Amino acid sequence: MGYAFGIDIGGTTVKMGFFQKEEGLLEKWEIATQKGNDPTVVLEDIKVAIYACLERHHVSKEDVEGIGMAAPGPVTEGGLLRGTVNIGWGDVYLGKEGERIFDISPVYIANDARVAALGEAIYGAGVGEKSMMLLTLGTGIGGGVVFDGTIHVGSTGVAGEIGHCTVDPYETAPCSCGKYGCLEQYASATGMVRVAKRFLAEEDMPSVLRDKENLTAKDLWDGVTAGDPLSLMIGKHVSRLLGITIANACYVVDPDLVVIGGGVSAAGEVLLDMVIAEYKPQVFPHSRGKKFALAKLRNEAGIYGAAALVFTV
Ligand SMILES: [Zn+2]
Repeated sequence: MGYAFGIDIGGTTVKMGFFQKEEGLLEKWEIATQKGNDPTVVLEDIKVAIYACLERHHVSKEDVEGIGMAAPGPVTEGGLLRGTVNIGWGDVYLGKEGERIFDISPVYIANDARVAALGEAIYGAGVGEKSMMLLTLGTGIGGGVVFDGTIHVGSTGVAGEIGHCTVDPYETAPCSCGKYGCLEQYASATGMVRVAKRFLAEEDMPSVLRDKENLTAKDLWDGVTAGDPLSLMIGKHVSRLLGITIANACYVVDPDLVVIGGGVSAAGEVLLDMVIAEYKPQVFPHSRGKKFALAKLRNEAGIYGAAALVFTV
């Protein structure tokens, strides 16, 4: 006993992790995601990968405690995955389908950002903390709130969607969610580039960013680290939106730890320090010492969190 699979289903690849409860991650690998409207195609591919792995490790399926899966779409507490735009699926009870196809139970399913938060809470930056809130700054902004080793899903599955908190109700460009003025539009990797381009057009001060052909969020934070004045101005602007939104979320959930992850978090302490500096004035004085950390598990957070769905039940 004591084995589990942690599976992170993404738009291009499915990340697979084979875990043992005490020993942790035993093997990780990836398979391609076959896009299309039929989730059973992907589940059949995962099944082949699972059984091949069990054979490699001479483990029988009876010794598998369960399978945890993360998927890139909203998931209700009842396990209904509500549409997965970047793969092409409609509504599906993916856990139940998984149990039927894999012939292994139970199969748990949760939103990928929420699962990453659970992974960080149990195996990463949140070890030893009672509660944690994660923001992943990538192409979009994902997030999740974990209390006592459990993801808080919420009644409609949006708890933790920090990236879609409105920070500018007067925005005229739509967010990927269809709303206007979401945090993600300014503080995700793509959002930061958008803000940077706006500053570059509006300000005429010289900047290292002006020479960049395909400006990236990394260029921006490299500029901040190098002390480029315009980069600092842009960095402060996006950090303020992050700090305000984190503070607003803290007035509701007040976690022991706030973790920042995703590709942009590779900028490191400079990003974290600027966000903390903008967070502090937004909260009561006794809340200003809140712990912040950078995510530790990077793109393995999903498989760890998916395994935790099994092990922390
Ligand atoms: Zn949005």
